Amino acid sequence: MFSDKDISRFANLETPFYYYDLSLLQNTLKTCADAAKLYNFHVHYAMKANFNPVVLQKIKTTGFGADCVSGGEVSKALESGFNKSQIVFAGVGKSDKEINLALDEDIFCFNVESVQELEVINELAAKKGKKAKVAIRINPNVDAHTHHNITTGLDENKFGVNSWDLPQCAETLKASANLEFIGIHFHIGSQITNLDVYKNLCVRVNEFGLWFEERGFTVKVLNVGGGLGIDYHHPDQQVPDFGNYFKIFSDFLEIRIGQEVHFELGRALVGQSASLISRVLYVKNGKKKNFVVLDAGMTELMRPALYQAYHKIENLSRGKQVALKYDIVGPICESTDCFGKEVEQPETFRGDLYAIRSAGAYGEVMASKYNLRDEIKSVYSED
Ligand SMILES: *Cc1c(COP(=O)(O)O)cnc(C)c1O
Repeated sequence: MFSDKDISRFANLETPFYYYDLSLLQNTLKTCADAAKLYNFHVHYAMKANFNPVVLQKIKTTGFGADCVSGGEVSKALESGFNKSQIVFAGVGKSDKEINLALDEDIFCFNVESVQELEVINELAAKKGKKAKVAIRINPNVDAHTHHNITTGLDENKFGVNSWDLPQCAETLKASANLEFIGIHFHIGSQITNLDVYKNLCVRVNEFGLWFEERGFTVKVLNVGGGLGIDYHHPDQQVPDFGNYFKIFSDFLEIRIGQEVHFELGRALVGQSASLISRVLYVKNGKKKNFVVLDAGMTELMRPALYQAYHKIENLSRGKQVALKYDIVGPICESTDCFGKEVEQPETFRGDLYAIRSAGAYGEVMASKYNLRDEIKSVYSED
């Protein structure tokens, strides 16, 4: 929700830009931290959702760790002041260079996604005379009931070690002097709104935990990943229900004494805290369709083009009274450069301000230079 003051401020700024509501962000982070504390759960922020420096500082100050998926993110987490004992590194294709970097920095844990990767980490750690802490990312074959492009925990997905490879995994762990097994890791997908999915995940986590224990391993860490969704249709109902989410894990995981439960939340922490603010360049009234052409496009927010994602779109200049249906498009030379089709809006004019809501996660981070676009700017509520 934007105040009149916000809107008159936007009117004086060059568009497009991401607008961050920092008090909402703060409120979301605190709600999550408080809910996690109730169960003594550990939260790592999935940095790939948004690595805007102002956002990262707020998250670090909240005390969350960092979940990284590249060497670049590991470096960024360290530069941003995250504690190395709270940095985890996942990813299906870690290069030798990235592994070496993480070994040099003594990060908390590698979330390992294949037997071959275990062998490589062991070899590289041996060269440095180090012992690398590893958790096995297991593909639990649990359907996340989300968009197929953001599902990661099914047999057909590239992520994690499949159950039939676990015996070989266990053997490799036992034979690797430079690896220290600390636990098991899962991440089954993103934008999960059906919380029953997590109950199914818990059942699988319990089974796999037991599987390792029966083979003589101590499973110190159960890392259940992230994926908690946000309500894109109601951006003003802003803070996700972290309490209910954590309660499911408390109720359904068989947590051993001394065992830690780790989470890797991305979208749920940052998604509602930003909007993409744009100006209308042109209005084209056609025979079959009316188009609103914005000065922001898929180069600033790729989610609609990439996976037909829905974002609520609001005309900030004309009130709430809808009058016409428009296709809201960007200026990029691609037909998929469309934020919404047949969207009901007030009658729109050149120069109107538009907000594309819930753009705090997988928005700014995915901005591209395609069409040699200007770098996207950020504006903050406390400026
Ligand atoms: C992307 C990712 C996350 C975070 O996903 P969200 O849906 O943003 O919560 C967590 N863990 C891993 C390994 C990831 O790749």
